Amino acid sequence: MHTLYGDFHVHLGRSADGRPIKITAARGLTLEAALREGQQRKGLDLMGIVDAACPPVLADLERLIEAGELEELAGGGFRFRGGLVFLAGAEVETEELRGPAHFLAFFPTLEALKHFSRRLAGWVTNPNLSSQHCRCRAADILEAVTALEGVFLPAHAFTPHKGLFGQGVDDLAEAFTDRQIAQIPAMELGLSSDTALADRIPGLGSFTFLSNSDAHSLPKIAREYNALELAEANFREWEMALRRREGRRVAANYGLDPRLGKYHRSACALCETIAEVPAPFFGPCARCGAAQLTPGVLDRIELLAQHGDRPLCPNRPPYIHQVPLEFLPGIGPKAMQRLLDRFGTEMNLLHRATDEEIAAAAGPKLAKILLAHRRGDIDWVHGGGGRFGRVAVRND
Ligand SMILES: [Zn+2]
Ligand SMILES: [Zn+2]
Repeated sequence: MHTLYGDFHVHLGRSADGRPIKITAARGLTLEAALREGQQRKGLDLMGIVDAACPPVLADLERLIEAGELEELAGGGFRFRGGLVFLAGAEVETEELRGPAHFLAFFPTLEALKHFSRRLAGWVTNPNLSSQHCRCRAADILEAVTALEGVFLPAHAFTPHKGLFGQGVDDLAEAFTDRQIAQIPAMELGLSSDTALADRIPGLGSFTFLSNSDAHSLPKIAREYNALELAEANFREWEMALRRREGRRVAANYGLDPRLGKYHRSACALCETIAEVPAPFFGPCARCGAAQLTPGVLDRIELLAQHGDRPLCPNRPPYIHQVPLEFLPGIGPKAMQRLLDRFGTEMNLLHRATDEEIAAAAGPKLAKILLAHRRGDIDWVHGGGGRFGRVAVRND
């Protein structure tokens, strides 16, 4: 078994011929640019792109296959220039009992992806754009994905804004039958929650948790990622890991401390006060009386935790709190380039370089920060209401 690193929620801004794909994503973020960044700078072994069912991206994908840049693998997925394995997926928005929710769907083959793309065109107004609102329920999408031997899972499941447990439902049974629930292998934690928080919600013990970046620009790729144990990198091995079969598994989650997340605490958009926990979901601000707080993940989870017992999850891998390297004080573009020149990729710097090598390459001041980061000796200020928290290295 090999330890491989993967980020399974990356968006694209444009197709190669300049057509918009995801309006909120950066223009330079094309399929090829994302794959290059994931492979060369980040050092990922697997990467999921969730706008791949849009016809302009499908056309780019087919062009890269024809040019020999992407190779379709027998075990599913596509190998980019002999290295990184790309998993082709789609993010969809459905209307659930209480509000909209986002889901991710991944497909093993180009054929299955094309089938899903045609199916999706019947549910959305503009199929050329990603993450469009679908005129159907999540259960309909799950059935379509399962029929194509794909993988379906809730995206940023606990985020109040368009997470399944945020706005969508209080309980999985509100959206799916028992048989359907058994087909869902995993849930994505989202930037504002982690394993410890999500495991307070009843009924989630059997789901693998994924920590993904939801990147809308190149530098954000792998700001959260997963370590997986796989025999090799391909779609079927990845699916086995999510289902924890034959020794394949997610071995660790790496991501932001949820206290740094933009939507960790409920906060008032008017007076910017962070509300006391538990704040009323979409309730008024206690300080200035504004009608609606921007709800926070922590408050939402506090509410859901009251619905039953904490699940038993003996198999959970560790969740390791990391901030993206760009968040660390003292790492400007120049210093980052120097580190990449020395270590090749961010994954090498984070996981394979020794303390001594980092000290030698980074200089004493920066090395102190990088090594504190590895040890988890980082302080933070809470985030909320759309603002990220801040980090500071402890001075001891
Ligand atoms: Zn989303
Ligand atoms: Zn997304």
